[in-house]
Amino acid sequence: MSRIVFIGLGNMGLPMAANLVRAGHVVTGLDLSGDALARLVEAGGRAGTSLAEAVADAEVVVSMLPEGRHVEAVYAGEEGVFAHAPHGCLFIDSSTIHVESARKVAGMAAARGFDMADAPVSGGVGGAAAATLTFMVGGSDTAFGRAEPILAAMGKTIVHAGASGAGQAAKICNNMILGISMVAVCEGFALAEKLGLDAQKLFDIASTSSGQCWSLTTYCPVPGPVPTSPANRGYTPGFAAAMMLKDLKLSQDVASAAGQATPLGAEAAQLYRLFVDQGNAGRDFSALFEFLRGGKSA
Ligand code: NAD
Repeated sequence: MSRIVFIGLGNMGLPMAANLVRAGHVVTGLDLSGDALARLVEAGGRAGTSLAEAVADAEVVVSMLPEGRHVEAVYAGEEGVFAHAPHGCLFIDSSTIHVESARKVAGMAAARGFDMADAPVSGGVGGAAAATLTFMVGGSDTAFGRAEPILAAMGKTIVHAGASGAGQAAKICNNMILGISMVAVCEGFALAEKLGLDAQKLFDIASTSSGQCWSLTTYCPVPGPVPTSPANRGYTPGFAAAMMLKDLKLSQDVASAAGQATPLGAEAAQLYRLFVDQGNAGRDFSALFEFLRGGKSA
């Protein structure tokens, strides 16, 4: 059992923190939203009153924040985690952020004598609630060894991807594949509709055929075939379109820096840019289906 501070209790962070509570850890949450803090308290956690006070006796800090700028501010800001964490505290950032941003923060942690792992996740809100996430971890062997038992309370598959930033590299590649595959599945269902083919029939066939993928079988973007998918609840996230756009932009940044052509990744990034610009930032990323078929968007 560890004293854990969990920073960022959003769609992902709240159920992850609740699983740490369930595993017997003492979890103090921090978030800008009082509602999120109240929900952690309902799940058996504690609401932190300030970062300085919460972190002062923490053994582990886990963060699940939107973007790299939030992660950098929370850890390295004047009143951030580095300024208040006790010697020996372990830091685990599970947000999806730029590889360079992760390396920068981990480097600052190392310079202050702390172990830090980047440990982004795959599996979505469903995986976060069920503690079945996949963690892809970047950091030293020591940081990985210390992080693994904490991550085990929130996930099923934990892979040490390599040194600092390797977890983010894996996540960015994975989500570029996801963004592209979601566009493909949306296009398939939009075309089926125009051809007069029933969505359930396409699902029954494609989900057992070569078109089968996670975007289809777990996260189907049309209402009906997968009752738990966001399409059945008005496309409330889940995984917001703004987050997918962020990840696709990250993929294009690193692809251009690495000199690797990713034409479908570039196309998917452009489509999500258009979709988000039309007021859909807060809708689930699978709502792209409505946009592609020319129907309603927010
Ligand atoms: P979210 O917007 O629902 O949650 C982020 C939370 O961070 C919010 O509650 C917000 O109030 C809080 N926050 C922001 N700045 C803060 C600060 N300075 N101090 C304390 N709290 C702060 O986002 P999410 O969907 O939970 O995603 C979080 C991260 O996980 C992102 O990097 C995202 O790309 C990644 N991710 C999300 C999913 C998904 O399905 N939603 C899946 C895998 C990875």
